[in-house]
Amino acid sequence: MNIWFATGNQHKKAELAAILRGHVLKIPSDAGIRWLEPAETGVSFYENALIKARALYASVREPVVADDSGLCVDALAGRPGIYSARYGGAVTTAARNALLLGEMAEIEERGARFVCALALLLSPDRFYLVQETLEGEILREPRGEGGFGYDPLFYIPALGRTAAELPAELKNRVSHRGKAGTLLQALL
Ligand code: IMP
Repeated sequence: MNIWFATGNQHKKAELAAILRGHVLKIPSDAGIRWLEPAETGVSFYENALIKARALYASVREPVVADDSGLCVDALAGRPGIYSARYGGAVTTAARNALLLGEMAEIEERGARFVCALALLLSPDRFYLVQETLEGEILREPRGEGGFGYDPLFYIPALGRTAAELPAELKNRVSHRGKAGTLLQALL
């Protein structure tokens, strides 16, 4: 099946394409489509995923998958949560990660999880929503060179490594996005 992915993020495309094998995943920029992410006005990951899917569907009129994901820190009452990409404003990833470490400097409780909601919109009235998590802890300094975003801060006790230290194939298997994608794959 040809499926559009409502993102401009090549990292996310590579991760999801590896999971949805047997399907052709296209993102708007691959096809020269100028598509601006809509305002994420939802109050949950899954609402925002559906908002993004509907926005791209309006342009392409073909099946669309969209995601919304982020990092939820227990000691920060789930922040940055749906605001993960905007946490700290328009700053570099390194600056954003430093800001989070600063905010947590005095905090002993380090539990956190990545959350990913995926919306698959087949037609305006047919859609599936799935949401998955990856459990971990926020380190006190970054570790690892791989992945993106908060990965170097995110230690996964079950694997003894940060998300930035995982080979892509392993991250795809265990991650919030990987597990949500596997659920969607089963529906297609
Ligand atoms: P979205 O594009 O609104 O889904 O933004 C998600 C944001 O959450 C990203 O910009 C990252 O900051 C963070 N995030 C989501 N998934 C991951 C991940 O797998 N690793 C690291 N950061 C992530």
